Amino acid sequence: MAYVINDECINCGACEDQCPVSCISAGDATYVIDADSCIDCGNCASTCPVGAPQAE
Ligand code: SF4
Ligand code: SF4
Repeated sequence: MAYVINDECINCGACEDQCPVSCISAGDATYVIDADSCIDCGNCASTCPVGAPQAE
């Protein structure tokens, strides 16, 4: 299990600082989550203004 950022991401960057394991970074089109490091805390989903991070 890991969270995944979908295409709704507007690249605001708000989630990056909220991740306790620093596994969110800017990607080519959207911010991306390193699935191997994500601990499913949900902070990114709570922070995101457009609901882009989704639990897979
Ligand atoms: Fe980071 Fe938590 Fe979001 Fe996973 S669910 S990417 S650990 S903030
Ligand atoms: Fe994208 Fe949401 Fe993260 Fe902003 S908070 S960079 S819109 S996933």
